[in-house]
Amino acid sequence: MSDKPLHPDTVAVHAGRSDFAALGVHAAPIDLSSTNPLPDILHGGDSYESMANGGHPLPDGGNVYARLWNPTVARFEEALAELEHAEASVAFASGMAATTAAILSHTTGAGKRHIVAVRPLYGGTDHLLDSGLLGAEVTFCHEDEVAASIRPDTGLVILETPANPTLDLVDIAAVVAQAGGVPVMVDNTFATPLLQNPLDLGAAMSLHSATKYIGGHGDVIAGVIACSEQTAEALRRVRAITGSLLHPLGAYLLHRGLATLPIRVQAQQASARIVAAKLQDNSAVLEVRYPELDDTRGLVGRQMRGGGAMIAIRLAGGYAAAEALTGSVRLFTHAVSLGGVDSLLQHPAALTHRPVAPDARPGADIVRLSIGLENVEDLLADLEQALSKVDAVAAHATR
Ligand code: PLP
Repeated sequence: MSDKPLHPDTVAVHAGRSDFAALGVHAAPIDLSSTNPLPDILHGGDSYESMANGGHPLPDGGNVYARLWNPTVARFEEALAELEHAEASVAFASGMAATTAAILSHTTGAGKRHIVAVRPLYGGTDHLLDSGLLGAEVTFCHEDEVAASIRPDTGLVILETPANPTLDLVDIAAVVAQAGGVPVMVDNTFATPLLQNPLDLGAAMSLHSATKYIGGHGDVIAGVIACSEQTAEALRRVRAITGSLLHPLGAYLLHRGLATLPIRVQAQQASARIVAAKLQDNSAVLEVRYPELDDTRGLVGRQMRGGGAMIAIRLAGGYAAAEALTGSVRLFTHAVSLGGVDSLLQHPAALTHRPVAPDARPGADIVRLSIGLENVEDLLADLEQALSKVDAVAAHATR
């Protein structure tokens, strides 16, 4: 084969599988051991120490204990890192566990205790930052205010693009420039590694709620951060100490999910474009938020390779209309979460973003849609019939 870099579609299918032929297998082996036989005290102990400090198991010391290291998880991490153009990745029991580790590893040393967070963010992330639970002080700001918010004790900048739930885009490279050397973590959940690679734009970490597109089938809760090997060490140290390693069965499913990630994202995105365009013509809808619409800075193309498959709509009838819509869909499931093969919709202000401070919470007129793999005409028909109920509610309200 030539030395030409492989296309991401190919990487997604083959990453983390280079040893299969030598192992004589065609599917990833799953190692469910919670503990491992020790060669002897000395070598086992040295390996333990290496992993407790965020390093790898030592070849003659073994994996010791599965809170420190699991080969099935490591295999998924290798594959995800390759897709994110990163040296390493570190997988966690949830997206929130990943965010927690990123915060702890960047604010509990060397006089760093301050975080700059660009709003809007996923409600759980906002809640974690605002709660003060992890001891860090947080300045929430707009993307243009990052430079002014940085202090000598700032250890981390956090942003999300496209942002949950409003689909706002943030210029990653511009924020990295403003951060002036402070590591920037980008929540890349909505974009996936197929549409956006924050490390290529100077970010230090790309975080995913792997629960979403990476898993893709609504059956795994997981998080993962792609980063340098040095940052990975710091994250693995927190993971080992706090006990937030991903379960190997979840890692197996995520690794399997990576193979179809490109084709899922492309198909879901193609439908989302059609749905977004069609919703713009619906009288019940005040505004459609989709990254490819009103992209005045040209971030789709420059930063993202497509708008993705998430849409937010503002309803003319406000909360009552949202209630009617979420209660009237038949094919869409009224449920939180996103990025799976089936279409979901939910009301962020009441659910995913409920813990966010009232002045930063998304409006009560917003409903968020995650477009799945169903036939797009069927999705449009479902939305049209449900929005006709919304029209009736709005007409009743104005009578
Ligand atoms: N980041 C984003 C953008 C999310 O949407 C979510 C969950 O919805 C998270 C992080 C947290 O991930 P998890 O639910 O896997 O902990």
